[in-house]
Amino acid sequence: MTPILHIQDLTKTYQSTGQTLTVLDHINFSITEGSTVAIVGPSGSGKTTLLGLCAGLDSSTSGLVELNGIRLDTLNEDARAQVRNQYVGFIFQNFQLLPTLTALENVMVPLELRGEKHIKPRALELLDKVGLSDRSHHYPAQLSGGEQQRVSLARAFSNRPKILFADEPTGNLDTETSEKVVKLIFDLNREAGTTLVLVTHDVDLAAKTQRILKVKGGKLISDEPTGVA
Ligand code: ADP
Repeated sequence: MTPILHIQDLTKTYQSTGQTLTVLDHINFSITEGSTVAIVGPSGSGKTTLLGLCAGLDSSTSGLVELNGIRLDTLNEDARAQVRNQYVGFIFQNFQLLPTLTALENVMVPLELRGEKHIKPRALELLDKVGLSDRSHHYPAQLSGGEQQRVSLARAFSNRPKILFADEPTGNLDTETSEKVVKLIFDLNREAGTTLVLVTHDVDLAAKTQRILKVKGGKLISDEPTGVA
Protein backbone atom coordinates (compact mmCIF):
# COMPACT_ATOMS: atom_id res chain seq x y z
CA MET A 1 0.00 0.00 0.00
CA THR A 2 1.34 3.46 -0.94
CA PRO A 3 2.00 5.58 2.12
CA ILE A 4 0.20 8.93 2.33
CA LEU A 5 3.47 10.43 3.58
CA HIS A 6 7.00 9.29 2.87
CA ILE A 7 10.07 11.04 4.27
CA GLN A 8 13.60 10.08 3.29
CA ASP A 9 16.86 11.53 4.62
CA LEU A 10 15.04 14.73 5.49
CA THR A 11 17.46 17.38 6.69
CA LYS A 12 16.93 21.02 7.61
CA THR A 13 19.70 23.42 8.49
CA TYR A 14 19.72 27.13 9.29
CA GLN A 15 22.65 29.51 8.92
CA SER A 16 23.10 31.84 11.81
CA THR A 17 26.08 34.08 12.60
CA GLY A 18 28.28 32.10 10.23
CA GLN A 19 27.38 28.75 11.79
CA THR A 20 25.25 25.93 10.45
CA LEU A 21 22.51 24.80 12.81
CA THR A 22 21.19 21.32 11.95
CA VAL A 23 17.58 21.22 13.14
CA LEU A 24 16.59 17.95 11.42
CA ASP A 25 19.20 15.33 10.63
CA HIS A 26 18.42 12.61 8.06
CA ILE A 27 14.91 11.69 9.21
CA ASN A 28 13.22 8.64 7.64
CA PHE A 29 9.67 7.33 8.03
CA SER A 30 6.49 6.50 6.14
CA ILE A 31 2.91 6.90 7.30
CA THR A 32 0.11 4.64 6.11
CA GLU A 33 -3.08 6.29 4.86
CA GLY A 34 -5.79 6.39 7.53
CA SER A 35 -3.42 5.86 10.46
CA THR A 36 -2.86 8.05 13.52
CA VAL A 37 0.63 9.12 14.59
CA ALA A 38 2.04 11.27 17.39
CA ILE A 39 5.38 13.08 17.18
CA VAL A 40 6.86 13.67 20.63
CA GLY A 41 10.15 14.96 22.03
CA PRO A 42 11.65 17.74 24.13
CA SER A 43 11.23 21.43 23.28
CA GLY A 44 13.58 22.54 20.52
CA SER A 45 14.05 19.00 19.19
CA GLY A 46 12.65 19.90 15.74
CA LYS A 47 9.02 18.68 15.94
CA THR A 48 7.38 21.84 14.60
CA THR A 49 9.97 22.12 11.84
CA LEU A 50 9.35 18.48 10.90
CA LEU A 51 5.57 18.97 10.80
CA GLY A 52 5.94 22.10 8.64
CA LEU A 53 8.15 20.25 6.15
CA CYS A 54 5.79 17.25 5.99
CA ALA A 55 2.84 19.57 5.32
CA GLY A 56 4.68 21.60 2.67
CA LEU A 57 4.60 24.81 4.73
CA ASP A 58 8.37 25.04 4.52
CA SER A 59 11.09 23.63 2.26
CA SER A 60 13.80 21.16 3.28
CA THR A 61 17.56 21.65 2.91
CA SER A 62 17.86 18.13 1.49
CA GLY A 63 15.92 14.89 1.44
CA LEU A 64 12.63 13.69 0.03
CA VAL A 65 9.08 14.55 1.15
CA GLU A 66 6.34 12.71 -0.73
CA LEU A 67 2.73 13.49 0.16
CA ASN A 68 -0.02 11.47 -1.50
CA GLY A 69 2.53 10.45 -4.15
CA ILE A 70 3.61 14.05 -4.91
CA ARG A 71 7.23 15.13 -4.34
CA LEU A 72 6.95 18.32 -2.27
CA ASP A 73 10.70 18.88 -1.98
CA THR A 74 11.02 19.66 -5.70
CA LEU A 75 8.12 22.16 -5.75
CA ASN A 76 8.17 25.91 -5.22
CA GLU A 77 6.01 27.63 -2.59
CA ASP A 78 3.05 28.24 -4.95
CA ALA A 79 2.94 24.63 -6.12
CA ARG A 80 3.22 23.40 -2.50
CA ALA A 81 0.31 25.69 -1.56
CA GLN A 82 -1.81 24.03 -4.24
CA VAL A 83 -1.01 20.58 -2.86
CA ARG A 84 -1.86 21.83 0.65
CA ASN A 85 -5.19 23.27 -0.50
CA GLN A 86 -6.07 19.96 -2.07
CA TYR A 87 -4.98 17.39 0.50
CA VAL A 88 -3.77 18.94 3.76
CA GLY A 89 -5.39 20.31 6.90
CA PHE A 90 -3.15 22.08 9.43
CA ILE A 91 -3.90 23.12 13.00
CA PHE A 92 -1.53 25.54 14.70
CA GLN A 93 -0.99 25.76 18.44
CA ASN A 94 -1.73 29.50 18.37
CA PHE A 95 -4.70 28.99 15.99
CA GLN A 96 -3.47 31.49 13.34
CA LEU A 97 -6.91 32.82 12.48
CA LEU A 98 -7.01 36.01 10.41
CA PRO A 99 -7.91 38.71 12.98
CA THR A 100 -9.81 40.97 10.57
CA LEU A 101 -12.15 38.20 9.42
CA THR A 102 -15.11 36.70 11.30
CA ALA A 103 -15.20 33.03 12.28
CA LEU A 104 -17.34 32.32 9.23
CA GLU A 105 -15.02 34.25 6.88
CA ASN A 106 -11.97 32.45 8.29
CA VAL A 107 -13.56 29.11 7.43
CA MET A 108 -14.58 30.39 3.98
CA VAL A 109 -11.00 31.36 2.97
CA PRO A 110 -9.74 27.89 1.95
CA LEU A 111 -13.05 27.16 0.19
CA GLU A 112 -12.67 30.38 -1.83
CA LEU A 113 -9.06 29.47 -2.65
CA ARG A 114 -10.26 26.15 -4.00
CA GLY A 115 -12.80 27.95 -6.18
CA GLU A 116 -15.71 26.08 -4.60
CA LYS A 117 -19.31 27.21 -5.05
CA HIS A 118 -21.93 27.65 -2.30
CA ILE A 119 -19.18 28.21 0.22
CA LYS A 120 -21.23 30.04 2.84
CA PRO A 121 -23.63 27.14 3.58
CA ARG A 122 -20.66 24.75 3.66
CA ALA A 123 -18.72 27.04 6.06
CA LEU A 124 -21.81 27.32 8.30
CA GLU A 125 -22.16 23.52 8.26
CA LEU A 126 -18.50 23.21 9.35
CA LEU A 127 -18.97 25.72 12.17
CA ASP A 128 -22.05 23.79 13.25
CA LYS A 129 -20.01 20.56 13.33
CA VAL A 130 -17.59 22.14 15.83
CA GLY A 131 -20.50 23.57 17.85
CA LEU A 132 -20.01 27.22 16.91
CA SER A 133 -22.96 28.15 14.67
CA ASP A 134 -23.90 30.88 17.16
CA ARG A 135 -20.42 32.46 16.93
CA SER A 136 -20.15 32.71 13.14
CA HIS A 137 -20.08 36.54 13.05
CA HIS A 138 -17.62 36.93 15.91
CA TYR A 139 -14.03 38.03 15.28
CA PRO A 140 -11.18 35.92 16.71
CA ALA A 141 -10.55 38.50 19.48
CA GLN A 142 -14.16 38.00 20.62
CA LEU A 143 -13.72 34.23 20.98
CA SER A 144 -12.15 32.17 23.78
CA GLY A 145 -9.02 30.12 23.07
CA GLY A 146 -11.07 26.93 22.81
CA GLU A 147 -13.52 28.58 20.41
CA GLN A 148 -10.67 29.89 18.27
CA GLN A 149 -9.16 26.40 18.13
CA ARG A 150 -12.53 24.99 17.05
CA VAL A 151 -12.79 27.62 14.26
CA SER A 152 -9.31 26.57 13.17
CA LEU A 153 -10.50 22.93 13.16
CA ALA A 154 -13.50 23.87 11.00
CA ARG A 155 -11.09 25.67 8.65
CA ALA A 156 -8.71 22.68 8.59
CA PHE A 157 -11.60 20.28 7.84
CA SER A 158 -13.03 22.49 5.07
CA ASN A 159 -11.13 20.88 2.17
CA ARG A 160 -11.89 17.35 3.44
CA PRO A 161 -8.15 16.76 3.93
CA LYS A 162 -6.59 13.37 3.33
CA ILE A 163 -4.10 14.18 6.07
CA LEU A 164 -4.41 16.47 9.08
CA PHE A 165 -1.32 17.87 10.79
CA ALA A 166 -1.79 19.39 14.23
CA ASP A 167 0.91 21.18 16.22
CA GLU A 168 0.09 20.92 19.93
CA PRO A 169 -3.66 21.05 19.22
CA THR A 170 -4.50 21.00 22.93
CA GLY A 171 -1.48 22.99 24.13
CA ASN A 172 -3.37 26.16 25.03
CA LEU A 173 -6.67 24.63 26.13
CA ASP A 174 -8.25 23.63 29.45
CA THR A 175 -9.01 19.93 30.02
CA GLU A 176 -12.68 20.06 29.05
CA THR A 177 -12.12 22.04 25.83
CA SER A 178 -9.14 19.90 24.98
CA GLU A 179 -11.30 16.76 25.20
CA LYS A 180 -13.81 18.31 22.76
CA VAL A 181 -11.05 19.20 20.30
CA VAL A 182 -9.45 15.74 20.52
CA LYS A 183 -12.84 14.10 19.90
CA LEU A 184 -13.41 16.23 16.77
CA ILE A 185 -9.98 15.33 15.43
CA PHE A 186 -10.36 11.58 16.03
CA ASP A 187 -13.95 11.61 14.67
CA LEU A 188 -12.48 12.91 11.41
CA ASN A 189 -10.14 9.91 11.34
CA ARG A 190 -12.94 7.44 12.08
CA GLU A 191 -15.59 8.99 9.83
CA ALA A 192 -13.54 10.15 6.84
CA GLY A 193 -10.39 8.03 7.18
CA THR A 194 -8.26 11.17 7.49
CA THR A 195 -4.67 10.41 8.47
CA LEU A 196 -3.66 12.24 11.68
CA VAL A 197 -0.15 13.46 12.49
CA LEU A 198 -0.07 15.23 15.85
CA VAL A 199 2.84 16.94 17.59
CA THR A 200 2.12 16.84 21.29
CA HIS A 201 3.53 17.00 24.81
CA ASP A 202 0.32 15.44 26.11
CA VAL A 203 1.04 11.78 26.91
CA ASP A 204 -2.68 10.92 27.08
CA LEU A 205 -3.20 12.31 23.59
CA ALA A 206 -0.12 10.51 22.21
CA ALA A 207 -1.41 7.25 23.75
CA LYS A 208 -4.65 7.57 21.74
CA THR A 209 -2.70 7.33 18.44
CA GLN A 210 -1.45 4.09 16.85
CA ARG A 211 2.21 5.04 16.64
CA ILE A 212 4.66 7.32 18.42
CA LEU A 213 7.67 8.87 16.71
CA LYS A 214 10.19 10.32 19.16
CA VAL A 215 12.48 13.14 18.01
CA LYS A 216 15.52 14.35 19.93
CA GLY A 217 18.21 16.78 18.79
CA GLY A 218 16.83 16.67 15.25
CA LYS A 219 17.06 12.86 15.00
CA LEU A 220 14.31 10.25 15.03
CA ILE A 221 15.30 8.18 18.07
CA SER A 222 12.34 5.81 18.27
CA ASP A 223 9.33 4.70 16.25
CA GLU A 224 6.96 2.40 18.14
CA PRO A 225 3.35 1.22 17.83
CA THR A 226 1.18 2.02 20.88
CA GLY A 227 -1.01 -1.07 20.51
CA VAL A 228 -4.08 1.02 19.56
CA ALA A 229 -5.82 -0.68 16.63
P1 ADP B 1 10.14 21.91 18.72
O1 ADP B 1 8.88 22.03 17.91
O2 ADP B 1 10.55 20.49 18.97
O3 ADP B 1 10.10 22.71 20.00
P2 ADP B 1 11.29 23.51 16.59
O4 ADP B 1 11.12 22.73 15.34
O5 ADP B 1 10.35 24.65 16.85
O6 ADP B 1 11.33 22.52 17.84
O7 ADP B 1 12.77 24.12 16.61
C1 ADP B 1 13.91 23.29 16.50
C2 ADP B 1 15.15 24.15 16.50
O8 ADP B 1 15.21 24.94 15.31
C3 ADP B 1 15.21 25.14 17.65
O9 ADP B 1 16.53 25.16 18.15
C4 ADP B 1 14.88 26.44 17.00
O10 ADP B 1 15.47 27.52 17.65
C5 ADP B 1 15.44 26.27 15.60
N1 ADP B 1 14.75 27.08 14.59
C6 ADP B 1 13.44 26.98 14.22
N2 ADP B 1 13.14 27.86 13.26
C7 ADP B 1 14.29 28.55 12.99
C8 ADP B 1 14.66 29.60 12.08
N3 ADP B 1 13.76 30.13 11.24
N4 ADP B 1 15.93 30.04 12.10
C9 ADP B 1 16.85 29.49 12.93
N5 ADP B 1 16.59 28.49 13.81
C10 ADP B 1 15.32 28.04 13.85
